[in-house]
Amino acid sequence: MIPYARQEIGEEEIAAVAEALRSDWLTTGPQVDAFEREFAAATGAREAVALSSGTAALHAALHVLDLGPGDEVIVPAMTFSATANAVLYVGATPVFADVDARTLLIDPQSVAERISPRTRAIIAVDYAGQPADYKELKSLCASHRIRLVSDACHALGATYDGEKVGSLADISTFSFHPAKHMTTGEGGMCTTGDAELARNMRRFRNHGLDSDHRTRSQTGRHAYDLVELGFNYRLTDIQCALGRVQLKRLPGILARRSAIAGRYEAAFRDLKKVKPLTRLPDRTHAWHLFVVRLDTEGLGMTRDEAFAQLRAAGIGANVHYAAVHLLSLYRKRFGFRPGHCPKAEAAANAIITLPLFPSMADSDVEKVIAGVRQLERH
Ligand SMILES: *Cc1c(COP(=O)(O)O)cnc(C)c1O
Repeated sequence: MIPYARQEIGEEEIAAVAEALRSDWLTTGPQVDAFEREFAAATGAREAVALSSGTAALHAALHVLDLGPGDEVIVPAMTFSATANAVLYVGATPVFADVDARTLLIDPQSVAERISPRTRAIIAVDYAGQPADYKELKSLCASHRIRLVSDACHALGATYDGEKVGSLADISTFSFHPAKHMTTGEGGMCTTGDAELARNMRRFRNHGLDSDHRTRSQTGRHAYDLVELGFNYRLTDIQCALGRVQLKRLPGILARRSAIAGRYEAAFRDLKKVKPLTRLPDRTHAWHLFVVRLDTEGLGMTRDEAFAQLRAAGIGANVHYAAVHLLSLYRKRFGFRPGHCPKAEAAANAIITLPLFPSMADSDVEKVIAGVRQLERH
């Protein structure tokens, strides 16, 4: 089975991890500082703060933006559930906006309709690796005086209007799960242009303490204060050493992903009932996922039947995602019913993610293409 995603780990990564293991610091040491500096430079952001996962990064972002009970945060209905879960972590209320049917990006029109006097923030998701409509979203945020968070877990390396993802919102979040562009096993990062938000995120990831182990060791002091309730969301030096090598590989990873996506797009151009998502001008795509949308009626088969047919052909298809508001937790807690975000709901039953990862052989790419073309001929 060709998997839908696969990490790229080479000898340089293994050597860097071994070196970190032999060093004085396994966590909260110099590799963390270096990884943060290099990641900030790569995303054009002033500050980067390393965290233990992309989910922890979202939690930290919403915490330092001071969101809590009584506040509403608008999120797209088509995303990984972690985007909305983070809103629950801080005790705020997620409000689901619908997506554009062509791109599955959060629809600024739907966002505008769902802004209320309690709305304090919007989380944009760069679905599949294509940046959301930041110009429209920023203008809504400015006119309603609300904050913009970018869940950029799909879009490391993408640009919008020439600006890098990571420097387009108040805070942007990234994930280093093995399925993403680069990995630290588990891991995440927040980027921001605001030094005070960065300072507060560093405190939040370290229990809410006003100093960390390394600073106390360097200054020879034992005293610390607990300023607020935080978590242990630290990323280890072992992981940051791995992340630094992965970050150096990013240009090559992006180029190979883009080449495979380009081959898929060309090969599916004449298909009528299986269509890649639409790419928009003014932005570059980071190609975390290659998603096709099925005309299930025209094909005469359901998405799940198409999914099974691809799997039977050895193609590790996947689905990203179910509509979040219709998952049991959200249905039960908020009473959501089908019809709340119709475009996201329709897409959730019509999309398939195809295998896409840098070490994919050209022969595997052709095998996926043949399998997808076969759907129209079944
Ligand atoms: C992967 C992902 C996350 C969560 O990242 P983890 O590192 O797995 O916690 C959040 N949002 C989106 C859109 C993601 O794809």
